[in-house]
Amino acid sequence: MTAKLIKGTEIREEILGEIEEEVKKIKAEHGKVPGLVTILIGENPASMSYVTLKIKTATRLGFKEIQDSQPVDISEEDLLALIDKYNNDDSINGILVQLPLPKHIDDKKILNAIDPDKDVDGFHPINVGRLMIGGDEVKFPPCTPAGIQEMIIRAGVETSGAETVVVGRSNIVGKPIANMMLQKGPGANSTVTVVHTRTKDMDVHCKRADILIVAAGVPGLVKPEWIKPGACVIDVGVNRVGEKISEKTGKKIAILRGDVDFDAAKEIAGSITPVPGGVGPMTITMLMVNTLKSLKFQMGIA
Ligand code: NAP
Repeated sequence: MTAKLIKGTEIREEILGEIEEEVKKIKAEHGKVPGLVTILIGENPASMSYVTLKIKTATRLGFKEIQDSQPVDISEEDLLALIDKYNNDDSINGILVQLPLPKHIDDKKILNAIDPDKDVDGFHPINVGRLMIGGDEVKFPPCTPAGIQEMIIRAGVETSGAETVVVGRSNIVGKPIANMMLQKGPGANSTVTVVHTRTKDMDVHCKRADILIVAAGVPGLVKPEWIKPGACVIDVGVNRVGEKISEKTGKKIAILRGDVDFDAAKEIAGSITPVPGGVGPMTITMLMVNTLKSLKFQMGIA
C-alpha cells in the first residue's frame, strides 16, 4: 500500500487563503485588521528566522504586524512593562514572545504576564485550563497541536471512536494534542493513549492506533512494524541528522528526519505526513488563525 500524503504545505495555503479573504471582509465592513506583535530578545539566529517567517506570513495576510526587537540585556522589569503596554493596546490582538529567553529572565513570569485574551500561542495557564475543559471554553488551542488536528480533519480521517495513540507528553505537543483528541466534538471523540519513556511495550500500544501521533524528537523511533495497516500517521518530529548543499540556493542546509521511518511506513499506513513539509508549516498557520480569532472575539463576532 502507498499511503496518501498529508501535505502541510498544501493545507497551509488553503488556510492562509481563507484567512486572507476573511481579513479583507472584516476590513471592508468594520475597518479593522488583526494586530500581532512579536517580541524578540537578542539575536539568536534560529529565533530571528522564526520571527521573520511569522512577520512575512502576517504581512501577506494584511495583518498589522509589529516586530519589537529588544537587546539581550533587557531587564525582566522592562520586558514586563513592554508586555503591559501591548496588553493595553486595543490594536494588538496577539502577543508573542519568542523563546528561548536569556537566562536572567524567568520564562514563566513573562508568559504568564501576557493577557490570556491575547495569548495566541495558547501557553498561558488560563488557556491551558480552557483547553482542558474543551468546547466553547477553548479560545486559543496551542498552534502545533491545533495544526495536527486541522490536518487530520482536512485529510478526512475519521476520529470519532478511533484509537489515537500519542507518543510524547510534552506541554507543547503531546499533552495538548492528547487532550484535544479526546474532547467531545468534530475532529476528536477518540479513545486516547499517551506513551512516553516509561511506557512498557510501546510497540503494542502503537500497533493498536488508528491514528498515531508521534512527537518524541527521536529520529526513526517508530518502526514500520509498529504501524497498523491503513492507520493515519502524523509525524511531528523534526530531527537534524546531517547537512547537505541546497540545489536551489547552493547553501548548506540541514537534512531533516522525522520520528517515523517514513519510507517503510508509507507502504503500511493509510495516510502519513512527510518531514519536512508535514506538521512544520502548520504551526505558524495556526498562529495566524488564532490571531484572527482574537480580533473576532474582541469584536464580538467569533
Ligand atoms: P520534548 O519536550 O523533548 O518531549 C519529547 C517527549 O517524547 C517526552 O514526553 C518524552 O518522554 C518522549 N520520548 C522521548 N524519547 C522517547 C522514547 N524513546 N520513547 C518514548 N517516548 C519518548 O519534545 P517536543 O517539544 O514535544 O517535540 C517533539 C518533537 O517534535 C521534536 O522533534 C520537535 O522538534 C518537534 N516539534 C515540531 C514542531 C513543528 O513541526 N511545528 C513543533 C514542536 C515540536 P518523557 O516525558 O518520558 O521524557
